[in-house]
Amino acid sequence: MILPIRGIGDPVLKRKGQDLSPDTKGLAELIDNMFETMYNANGIGLAAPQVGLSYRLFVVDTHVSIQEDTDDEKGIKQAFINPVICSFSGDKIPFEEGCLSIPHIREEIWRHDEIHVRYQDPAFNVQEAQFKGLISRVFQHEFDHIEGILFTDLLSPIKKGMLKGKLDKIKRGKVSVDYPMWLMKK
Ligand SMILES: [Zn+2]
Repeated sequence: MILPIRGIGDPVLKRKGQDLSPDTKGLAELIDNMFETMYNANGIGLAAPQVGLSYRLFVVDTHVSIQEDTDDEKGIKQAFINPVICSFSGDKIPFEEGCLSIPHIREEIWRHDEIHVRYQDPAFNVQEAQFKGLISRVFQHEFDHIEGILFTDLLSPIKKGMLKGKLDKIKRGKVSVDYPMWLMKK
């Protein structure tokens, strides 16, 4: 089921997510719905607050962007529950980011290239992983969502000023965050 995506200006996007426990009702279905919602919107990551739920949960599928697996970069499809970034490493590098909650806006954001993370998988087994490149980038962006942070919050005051008009339009509902239904697989 495709869920409505919340746009910038919705207070849920500014809230910190709550930890999930194995007895959270309907979690498997929620994860399925989040993947479906993300694919429908052509996204590669989606966090629970973006569908109106203050949970520490996000889904990532980078196969669209990483088509050929190399040793350095393999595409992943994964739901991350109660994730933690244990450490950052590598240089900080710029990359143009977008966000399903902030349509039509892309801005360069500097982030560390590598991260070491801990999380729970949908069976609530604790997993650890080292990510770099695009997966690290998407993980950090989605992790920010469950902390109530949007990528536009990370911009310089000057950049924020330049974007204010555009962001206000989304906040007032003048720019839709409904994604085209023709992208639906069924
Ligand atoms: Zn986002």
